[in-house]
Amino acid sequence: MTGKIRIAIDMDEVLADTIDKFIVVYQRDHKVDITLEQMHGKEFHELLPDKLNDSWRDYVNQKGFFRDLKVMPGSQQVVKDLCAKYDVYIVSAAMEFKNSLVDKYDWLEEHFPFIHWKNIIFCGNKIVDTHIMIDDRIRNFAGYNGRKLLFSSPHNFLVSEYERVNNWAEVADKLLRE
Ligand SMILES: [Mg+2]
Repeated sequence: MTGKIRIAIDMDEVLADTIDKFIVVYQRDHKVDITLEQMHGKEFHELLPDKLNDSWRDYVNQKGFFRDLKVMPGSQQVVKDLCAKYDVYIVSAAMEFKNSLVDKYDWLEEHFPFIHWKNIIFCGNKIVDTHIMIDDRIRNFAGYNGRKLLFSSPHNFLVSEYERVNNWAEVADKLLRE
């Protein structure tokens, strides 16, 4: 560790577009069309027909599911710039889906090669000693005492009690220019 301010950055729906992958696989395999507009304030699986409601778990437990996710727009350059000013840690609750571990590691190596392995934390509960956390899930803010930046994702659109960032340009505005 250095003396710099430490930031924890989430992966799914923050660096990696997991929702896009869900939309693609359900269209491909089940001919179910779900749009981002429909998801406003909801989880993706809440919009699935009843018979498919739990099937998302089968997908996320498959090897490879997390390996080809799209990168969230602007995230690579902003995270790279953050690394010059802060101690950046990628913190993902990957233990929930054990087959995701290697996929997530390889994905980071491909798209964020400037992140050293020592700065990658795959965990269960996010009990981390950082000053700032960027995450789309408010459950990860429970008990966290640092500055919380809620990264917008359709499921959290109706949440109002946290400082919000809608995209990576807004993260840059808040953390690179202040
Ligand atoms: Mg997330």
